Amino acid sequence: MAKKQYAIIGMGRFGSSVATALTDMGFDVLAIDSNEQRIQEISNIVTHAVSANSTDEDALRALGIRNFEVVVVAIGQDIQSSILTTLILKDLGIPTLIVKAQNELHGKVLQKIGADKVIFPERDMGLRVAHHLTSPNILDYIELSDDYSIVEMKVSDVMIGKNLKELDVRARFGCNVMAIKTGAKMNISPNANQPLDKEDVLVILGQKDDLIKLELAFS
Ligand code: ADP
Repeated sequence: MAKKQYAIIGMGRFGSSVATALTDMGFDVLAIDSNEQRIQEISNIVTHAVSANSTDEDALRALGIRNFEVVVVAIGQDIQSSILTTLILKDLGIPTLIVKAQNELHGKVLQKIGADKVIFPERDMGLRVAHHLTSPNILDYIELSDDYSIVEMKVSDVMIGKNLKELDVRARFGCNVMAIKTGAKMNISPNANQPLDKEDVLVILGQKDDLIKLELAFS
């Protein structure tokens, strides 16, 4: 099977980090930026690095952008360029178009014009850090929708030795323990009678407000 090819537009902090990570994972990456210096900096890392203005449809066509299965638009500050670029790529029929949004309104526009996935890296990282700060047992926090999230929670002192039946998070908080991770092992159908160990990590799905109540109750 041919290797998936990715094009990343905008080599700011976020775009260059995505481009570098994909290259490290062995994928072919085309990096595009209108800023010559940024292109020079990334050119030693990615497969191809080209200086071009992504609001110029002809320039994008000339780069063969239509052959790319996934295109990431990582232009943050210049919202107009981000929107125009997304529109052009959508018209060109890119199968998977992922776009970074600077704020909620920008995100809404991107969704309306057909971005397949809109990402908010700063907001999402801010949320994760805030949850980790307020409850050090929270290892990760993933927002699934406006209402629902998943948290990864280290078993806290008050939970050690208790089992899921005793903690009763479904009745008390309306949340579901989907899995228990112990080291590298992931148990996706946890036994409700098994006492929790201090090394265990619970993967819990629930409404955001309920998860906050659960985090506070168990920290
Ligand atoms: P970050 O916050 O991730 O650092 P920035 O918004 O600062 O993101 O960086 C975006 C990058 O996108 C910059 O390197 C900028 O030169 C590039 N860029 C902005 N507009 C265009 C465009 N029309 N075509 C190509 N690259 C662009």
